[in-house]
Amino acid sequence: MESVNPATGETLETYEEPTGADVDAALEAATDAFGSWSETPIQHRRTLLADAADVLRDRVDEYADLMVREMGKPVAQARSEVEKCAWVCDYYAERAEEQLSDEVIGSDAAAHTLVSYEPIGPVLAIMPWNFPFWQVFRFAAPNLAAGNVGLLKHASNVPGCALAIEEVFRDAGFPEDTFQSLLVGSDTVEDVIADDRLRGVTLTGSEGAGRAVAGQAGGELKKTVLELGGSDPFVVLDDAPMEHTLEKAVQARTQNNGQSCIAAKRFIVHDDAYDEFVDGFVDRMDDLSVGDPADEDTDVGPQARQGLMEDLHDQVERSVDAGAEVATGGEPLDLEGPFYPPTVLIDVPRDAAAATEETFGPVAAVFRVEDEAEAIELANDTDFGLGASVWTENLERGERVAREFEAGCCFVNELVKSDPRLPFGGVKNSGYGRELSEHGIREFVNRKTVWVQ
Ligand code: NAP
Repeated sequence: MESVNPATGETLETYEEPTGADVDAALEAATDAFGSWSETPIQHRRTLLADAADVLRDRVDEYADLMVREMGKPVAQARSEVEKCAWVCDYYAERAEEQLSDEVIGSDAAAHTLVSYEPIGPVLAIMPWNFPFWQVFRFAAPNLAAGNVGLLKHASNVPGCALAIEEVFRDAGFPEDTFQSLLVGSDTVEDVIADDRLRGVTLTGSEGAGRAVAGQAGGELKKTVLELGGSDPFVVLDDAPMEHTLEKAVQARTQNNGQSCIAAKRFIVHDDAYDEFVDGFVDRMDDLSVGDPADEDTDVGPQARQGLMEDLHDQVERSVDAGAEVATGGEPLDLEGPFYPPTVLIDVPRDAAAATEETFGPVAAVFRVEDEAEAIELANDTDFGLGASVWTENLERGERVAREFEAGCCFVNELVKSDPRLPFGGVKNSGYGRELSEHGIREFVNRKTVWVQ
C-alpha cells in the first residue's frame, strides 16, 4: 500500500499489507480487548476519550501536515479537522454516560421495566480518504465510549492517517487493541465481515461500496450504518440575503477541494435572484487561489488522485455535451498534479451528469427555477438524500421549505455541516443510520429490554 502526495506525485511511504493470519490475529485481539473494555467503567472510558482529545490538540500541526501530504487538504482546513476530532472526543467524554444510562419505562404490568444500552463487540469501520481523521473519530469516539472496540479499514490512499489515529488512542492510554488499523484493501473486507467475531459494520464512502458492503453484512445478519454520497441542493429563494448566500455558496462547493459528501452540488436559484447570484458566484469562484495545499493562502488544493480528477472532468464534458454551458473553469489546470479549477456550469439540463451524479470536486451546477414549488421539486429530484440548504430572509419560510426536503440534514441560511450534538446521516441512496449525538452512540448497542415482575 502506497501513500502518494497528490500535489507532487511523490511517494511518501510504502506499507506491507497484513496477511490473512495477521487479520485473524487482529480479530482475536479485538475480541480479547472487548472482554475487558466492555467491563471497564464508563467513567474511565470517558476519561480516556478526554485524553485522546488532548493528544489531538497537542499534535494538531503534525496531523494536519499528514493530511495535507496524503490527500491534499488545504492546511488551515486540515487543522480545523483535527480540532473537530478533539471536539467529538470531548463531546462524548462529557455526554456518553448520560446518553447510555438506563431508560426506565413505567409499566402497569411489571414491577420495573427498563432499557439498558450494552456494547455488542468489535465493529469494523470502512472509511474514505476525504476527511481522513474526522470520519474515523465520529465513529470511534461514540463506539469506544459505548464499550465497543474498533477495527479500521481506511481508504487505501491514506494509510499514514490510519496509523496516526491508532497512535492517538494508544498514546491516550486506551488498552491495547481497543482500536486497531488494518492496512488492507477492499478485497479483504468480505472475509472480515463474515467472521463470527465481528459484530457490526459502518461504512462511509460511495454508493457502490455501500451496496457491496451492505449486501455482504446483510448475508451475515450484521447491522450496518451507511454514510454514502450526496448531491445536495442549495436553494436560493427570491428573498435570499445575497452577500451571505454567495459567501456560503462558494465555501459550500469548494471546501475540502470540493470533495465533500455534504458539499452543495446543485444550486437551484429563483428567477428573480438568478442574475445577481450567478454573476456574484462566478466572480467569487474566479477569485479563489488554487495550488499548493501546504500554503496558508491556498483555497483549493489538488484532487486527491489523478483518476478522480479525470472522472470529474468527464462529468463536466458529458454535461456540456448534454447542453450545459461553462460559465467559468471547465478544463484541468496546466499544473503538475490533478488540479481542477473552481467551475460553474449554467443552463444544466436535468438529465445531465452534473444534475444526476455526485460531482466530487469543485464543480457547481446552477439551475434556474420559476418559483418555490419548482425549487423544492427539483431539489428532491435526485436519488440522493444527504443534506440540503435553503437561503431566504424569511426564517419561517426557510423552515417550511427545509421540512419539505427529502434529506437527512436540512439547513436554513447555513451550509450543511456535521456537529457532534446533532444526528448526521442520509436517506435514499445516501444511506441509513445516524452518526453523532445520542442517535449515533446508540447504533451499535444492544438496546436491551429488562422486565422485572
Ligand atoms: P469509496 O471508493 O467508496 O471508498 C470508501 C471506503 O470503502 C474505502 O476504505 C474503500 O477502500 C472501501 N471500499 C470501496 N469499495 C469497497 C468494496 N466493494 N468492499 C469493501 N470496501 C470497499 O469512496 P471514497 O472515494 O473513498 O470517498 C468518497 C465517497 O464517500 C463519496 O461518494 C462521498 O460522498 C462519500 N462520503 C460520504 C460521507 C457521509 O457522511 N455520508 C462522508 C464522506 C464521504 P479502498 O480505498 O481500499 O478502495
